[in-house]
Amino acid sequence: MQENKAKCNDPRCPVHGQLKTRGSRLIGLVVSSKAKKTAIVKVDYTMYLYKYERYLRKHSRIAAHNPECIGARVGDTVSLAETRRLSKTKSFAITGVLKQKQVAA
Ligand SMILES: [Zn+2]
Repeated sequence: MQENKAKCNDPRCPVHGQLKTRGSRLIGLVVSSKAKKTAIVKVDYTMYLYKYERYLRKHSRIAAHNPECIGARVGDTVSLAETRRLSKTKSFAITGVLKQKQVAA
């Protein structure tokens, strides 16, 4: 887990703000962080198909709140926590960076 760089004034920060998290917790890969304080996180999951008795690999793209004190960037592996609905498409918040993107030396 990444250390918290600084305190932030974001009320929607799950660490420093008043935002409560409840429900599911997920781990995913940041695929876009273009929007301000929002990141698109790809979450891989499997679904069992009874007909073929095999697992189907699926993924979903989740819009998550990306507070400035965490500042996850594209390529980072992050943990998510479900929150109340923050906007039309956001109901998750990033709670930490588990693995930063490896930069080729
Ligand atoms: Zn914060």
